[in-house]
Amino acid sequence: MLVLNATYEPVNVCTVRRAVVLLLKEKAELIERAERELHSACTTIARPVVIRLISYVRIPRDTHRRKITRRAVFARDDWTCQYCGSRTQLTVDHVVPRSKGGTSTWDNIVASCAPCNRRKGDALPRQAGMRLLKPPRTPSPHVFIHVASPTIPAAWRQYLAA
Ligand SMILES: [Zn+2]
Repeated sequence: MLVLNATYEPVNVCTVRRAVVLLLKEKAELIERAERELHSACTTIARPVVIRLISYVRIPRDTHRRKITRRAVFARDDWTCQYCGSRTQLTVDHVVPRSKGGTSTWDNIVASCAPCNRRKGDALPRQAGMRLLKPPRTPSPHVFIHVASPTIPAAWRQYLAA
């Protein structure tokens, strides 16, 4: 289920169960429903596809910081080596190597193809004569939505377009 903030900005993806709980507690409203319904012993409710939180939720930067995964790094970097633009043999590279005090944070991790990663080795990009295509940043919630749900349902698209 796609969860929108009160402002209609996409926040994240949640399970049907979680969405139903938010709806029943009136913490969210149903924006898009599926044709299929959910049945329980005593009620039938619409199966949510997109819900919107009633009150605005401030998205802490920390939630993104915790979720540094290979897939999220590749998705942020558009599955492209950030040194040469190659789309094959992707690995994750610490821009400032860990041996030189580099941290495992969004601004120090990029997608790199294996040949670039080998060429750079334990050096700084500058020392290896390499440059980043763009400075790495904490990705927007959209990246995590794409990672959580590789196939984006048609009903979500209009909300993710912005
Ligand atoms: Zn490369």
